[in-house]
Amino acid sequence: MDPAAHLMTHFGPVSAEGLPVIVRGKGCELWDSEGNRYLDALSTLFCVNAGHGRAELADAAAAQMRRLGYGTTWDMVHPPALELAARVAALAPGDLDRVFFTSGGSEAVESALKLVRSFHQLRGEPRRTKVIARELSYHGTTAGALSATGLPSVRAPFEPLAPGGCHVPHTDAYRTPPGRDPLWAADAIEHRILFEDPGTVAAVILEPVQNSGGCLVPPDGYFQRVREICDRHGVLLISDDTICSWGRLGTWFGGQRFGYVPDIITTAKGITSAYAPMGAMIVSERVAAPFLEQDASFQHGLTFGGHPVAAAVALANIDLIEREGLLDRVLANEDLLRETLEGLRDIPLVGDVRGAGYFWGIEMVADRETKAPFPPAAAKEIVGVLDREIKRRGLICRAVDRGFPVIQLAPPLVAGPAEFEEIAGVLRAAMTEAAVIHAG
Ligand code: PLP
Repeated sequence: MDPAAHLMTHFGPVSAEGLPVIVRGKGCELWDSEGNRYLDALSTLFCVNAGHGRAELADAAAAQMRRLGYGTTWDMVHPPALELAARVAALAPGDLDRVFFTSGGSEAVESALKLVRSFHQLRGEPRRTKVIARELSYHGTTAGALSATGLPSVRAPFEPLAPGGCHVPHTDAYRTPPGRDPLWAADAIEHRILFEDPGTVAAVILEPVQNSGGCLVPPDGYFQRVREICDRHGVLLISDDTICSWGRLGTWFGGQRFGYVPDIITTAKGITSAYAPMGAMIVSERVAAPFLEQDASFQHGLTFGGHPVAAAVALANIDLIEREGLLDRVLANEDLLRETLEGLRDIPLVGDVRGAGYFWGIEMVADRETKAPFPPAAAKEIVGVLDREIKRRGLICRAVDRGFPVIQLAPPLVAGPAEFEEIAGVLRAAMTEAAVIHAG
């Protein structure tokens, strides 16, 4: 057996044979075991926000391991978790002041879905168990998070799923017909709440910019309308900021970018710039209130939630983001990134370029006039060619088929004009190749 066959990949084959072995990183660059160099235009998995090879994050981990290598946030706590919770609460919007740590994003979402049930039970509304999410959304792989996830290909192999997941359309500004109320997708949430019976709906979960589907940016006023709808029907609003936090959109959290305050935020990935596994659920005082008033516990926990090494890395990562002004850097550079990608519009495949901050998607269409998508076989072929040609040129980004081919980019926040140019150069070559092969 090839030694690599022992390693089962995630969302892939049960063997790692033939995959590049990444051994080293610096800034926006990675190298594999054969000495090939890659430009990481995806922060590897939307998570290495501070860039690769940051010695101070390694030093923070080593120092904490020497001091206290493990501790819980169960019936005793430790300084890094205490300090990090206070720091996160201070950065979060509104009165989201209480922090529950997890090992990653799925666990943060799972925790939020359990907390909202507990919240409604304590308030005498135990029928409120359903969660409304958007089509094509990805909220993680654990049972609860998966029932919120709106990607048929990810859900289908595990059906029947945990009950309660309901789906509404995403904010497809590209295909919204002219003249249609731009907030139609927010109103679709209210229709679904009414259809389900508001007394059975616990929460709405939304990403600030929806990743899956290719960086779907909400229209102006969307989150304000959703906030009103949730309040009108006693439904909690969960903002799943697993990607859209820690500077990805040029703000700490998505709510600050789009001017809304959710009841709960879920986050992970960039909280440590992925140097240690960590996620968090950040909870408003309103949601915490019934637990405090009734002296009730949240009956949920994780051995590694708030791990001291991860918490120490997160603190050092927040210091780094602040010291290097990475939020301002993203805001200062996002127009240039947009313009650089918009420069690809002369390639016939390019239908839409959309995104915010350092988080962009390029959707490809069969006909730019009508915005008609490719037939399924052609979409698959184009994604296959793009994936091959992009990788061959040493660029790490994502080319996927979501019913339409889409390329996604999320460079480390330290990226700048030189990286943008290289990204556009590789994409131009790969998309031109895909267009030629498709036309032929
Ligand atoms: N929620 C969102 C919005 C995500 O993008 C992801 C992962 O990409 C998750 C949840 C799941 O996070 P994890 O893979 O850390 O479990």
